[in-house]
Amino acid sequence: MTFTEFNLHRSLFEAIAELDYKNPTPIQEQVIPEILNGNDVVGCAQTGTGKTAAFAIPILEVLHPIVGSLKKRKFIRTVVLAPTRELALQIQENFDLYGKYLNTRSVVLLGGVNQNPQVEALKQGVDIVIATPGRFLDLHKQGFINLDQMHHLVIDEADLMLDMGFINDVKKIIKLSPKNRQTLLFSATMPFEIRVLADEFLNNPKYILVNPVSSTAQNIAQSVYFVEKENKRNLLLHLIETLQLENAIIFVRTKHGADNLVKTLGKKNIKAIAIHGNKSQNARVRALDEFKNKDVQFLVATDIAARGLDIDQLPTVINFDLPNIPETYVHRIGRTGRAGNEGKSISLCGKDEKAYWQDIVKLIKSRVKEVNDHPFPWNTNENGTSSTKNEPKKDFRNTKNSKSRKSNNSKKNKKRWY
Ligand code: AMP
Repeated sequence: MTFTEFNLHRSLFEAIAELDYKNPTPIQEQVIPEILNGNDVVGCAQTGTGKTAAFAIPILEVLHPIVGSLKKRKFIRTVVLAPTRELALQIQENFDLYGKYLNTRSVVLLGGVNQNPQVEALKQGVDIVIATPGRFLDLHKQGFINLDQMHHLVIDEADLMLDMGFINDVKKIIKLSPKNRQTLLFSATMPFEIRVLADEFLNNPKYILVNPVSSTAQNIAQSVYFVEKENKRNLLLHLIETLQLENAIIFVRTKHGADNLVKTLGKKNIKAIAIHGNKSQNARVRALDEFKNKDVQFLVATDIAARGLDIDQLPTVINFDLPNIPETYVHRIGRTGRAGNEGKSISLCGKDEKAYWQDIVKLIKSRVKEVNDHPFPWNTNENGTSSTKNEPKKDFRNTKNSKSRKSNNSKKNKKRWY
């Protein structure tokens, strides 16, 4: 199938062609016609499947004839709710890319930053509002949001909304919306509460299931290293060197862990930056930009901060800490191997994480290469404690290689982003 078959407005089609999207992804094939036909949709798809374009493209197609010739805007036509700031900003980026040649206007409403510029944009008039639920309700309460002419409501990453405790805010926003709206709900998983929400608030929706969360992408080469917890840092440095890892997201469990790991890498002249909930909005955007521009090699992230991040052609995902929720593993490694590219995931599993790993293996049902041949394997002492016999065979903190790595990598960095 090609994009021409959707009969999109020429300006929209041109913007898509410029992005070099050759064919619609499976979710786009199914969702775009349903939205254009005016149906409510429940899309079960994770990030990386092209789901943002699956709703943004048809919404722009519907919006364009309504607002394209307007000089002033009085009404908001589309509201997109997203659980995180980063995701909201990325959704706007996508609307801007596809709507490059259309005369549509959008604003992102986010908490944690001064509301005045957002209010000013609303006063100027916008067609599309992309918002986190809390700030949306806040500004609605203050009378800055008029939903009288809203015809599309998108709820993105609904399961994460639930995890983050936003679901009641989402319900409030649904209730504020006009009854004749079209509602589009996307979720990587379909927990019971989300199905109930869809039954209650969507009008005879079409259910579209693509790449459910239990199936990890086939084009991601997954490996797991069993390593003593205290040697994880050394193993990571070893892998960065021997596998010549140049750009990766490294997932950690805690904010503190993220900051510490950035320091460890920094001491080895490996440029890394942390992204987590304790960072200000500006710091998070800056970190993401630096990583995207390849000014830093590694983005060290917690799950909440990283969910939904769209980074083109990310070659590698590293699970420095294993997640305790197996679905999170699928979300994490879904950052790589996108849109048909090859990807690699590397997981470090400490003894204390063995049960987590077993849960992950049960969920993904796909082959993961187990690597035991590395300098920091699990200590097999009966009492399970470390012994000098099992000290690392090599300490990468003091090798010449670690010095040469810097110059090698900085050269390679300029050339390669896989
Ligand atoms: P998403 O699932 O919305 O986070 O999208 C993941 C990535 O796929 C983004 O970088 C999009 O730009 C890209 N993408 C979306 N649709 C297509 C397509 N039809 N062909 C190629 N890349 C696409």
